[in-house]
Amino acid sequence: MKEMKYDVVVVGAGIAGPIVARNVAKSGYSVLLIDKKPAIGTPKQCAEGISIKVFEKYDIPYDRRFINREIYGAKLYSPSGYELELRYKEASGVILERKVFDKMLAYYAAKAGADVLARTEALDVIRKDGRIAGIKAKHEDETVEIHADVIVAADGVESTIARKAGINTYAPPHEFDSSYEYEMLIEGYDPDLIHLWFGNEVAPRGYVWVFPKDEDRANVGIGINSDNPQTAKYYLDKWLKENNIPAKKILEVNVGVVPVGGFVKELVKDNVLVVGDAARQVNPMHGGGMAEAMEAGTIASKWIVKTLEEENLALLRNYTTEWWETDGERLQKVLKVRKVTEKLSDEDLDLFIQILSGADAEKIAGGDYGEVIRALLKHPKVILSPRRIKLLRELL
Ligand SMILES: Cc1cc2nc3c(=O)[nH]c(=O)nc-3n(C[C@H](O)[C@H](O)[C@H](O)COP(=O)(O)OP(=O)(O)OC[C@H]3O[C@@H](n4cnc5c(N)ncnc54)[C@H](O)[C@@H]3O)c2cc1C
Repeated sequence: MKEMKYDVVVVGAGIAGPIVARNVAKSGYSVLLIDKKPAIGTPKQCAEGISIKVFEKYDIPYDRRFINREIYGAKLYSPSGYELELRYKEASGVILERKVFDKMLAYYAAKAGADVLARTEALDVIRKDGRIAGIKAKHEDETVEIHADVIVAADGVESTIARKAGINTYAPPHEFDSSYEYEMLIEGYDPDLIHLWFGNEVAPRGYVWVFPKDEDRANVGIGINSDNPQTAKYYLDKWLKENNIPAKKILEVNVGVVPVGGFVKELVKDNVLVVGDAARQVNPMHGGGMAEAMEAGTIASKWIVKTLEEENLALLRNYTTEWWETDGERLQKVLKVRKVTEKLSDEDLDLFIQILSGADAEKIAGGDYGEVIRALLKHPKVILSPRRIKLLRELL
């Protein structure tokens, strides 16, 4: 059996893993980044939308090779067809090509000094003298033992390695969304905006999305609560049919599960850390987790470097503390909002989108949610409904 030794081994080359590998390697430590996929980034399970701010914030080149399209805002559609358009003057987001993006993130990690091994599946942790000494993996047909001082579980929603290391990643089924997506040809939707449809019959708890990758090509998908008796595919196909959108030019089909709550409490156990989807670090409102994975990866790598510098394993636990005091606290608030929006009826959604379409779109697009709620609370149809007032007050 082949044996290897690194300071840090990172399992999973999605988003969180390569960010950790790159940052730690930059500080001069030996890092191995592995992924079970034969080609990093492929297949994708993503609608590929992300805020434009992440490139500068996480020091990622704004490289046209993985940017399909710049996006200038969003259009929201209520169950009865009321529309709310939020358009910015400057590009606010991009639709990525994740097959290229993930691979390039791994490339940046490799350029920073990390070793990278595709088609290498972590099978288990290695325990020695009561502590975790590394991981056992399969590369091609060969079993390899990768010894490391620090192990990073960035292995996505299935979260195998964290569980094997004894980190509690359990969340009930209600805290996950089931999603289904076609990359397909579609016409008639402004390709400068992302489009989101809401409604309890359209997408229970979630939404249908059209994220344009071209003038006439988009990721068309849906997310619904995973404990729903119907499948996500059922609702997506129903929506396409009801809207007379021919699903005859389908380039890809993606199926996935998205954590939308149940953030892992203890992110570190001895010398093992969990980051990204594996730690449920995803925005529970819209199910986007790439920016969150980058943020968690940044915090985790900072504490890994400090731990290695000071040879003090206890420092690793600061990742848990810092994440919970910053992004964890923010996401906890977003989760509260999700739980309130779950209670909205179709009539509520119609009314709120109708009111907001007449409100100051600049302010809403600026993300001033307090302003949005206050605008809703002033409307007569809200004032006359104690239930709606209660729901909205929960959001303030
Ligand atoms: C349909 C869908 C649409 C989405 N749309 C968006 C969106 O538009 N915007 C957004 O921000 N987020 C979106 N998300 C969420 C986003 O994809 C994730 O939050 C993000 O990819 C998390 O990054 P990660 O690095 O934690 O995990 P992942 O990107 O899932 O990466 C984990 C990696 O680990 C590897 N791996 C797993 N197990 C092992 C193992 N045992 N050994 C070796 N390798 C292993 C996998 O092959 C994978 O490459 C979407 C998710 C889905 C399912």
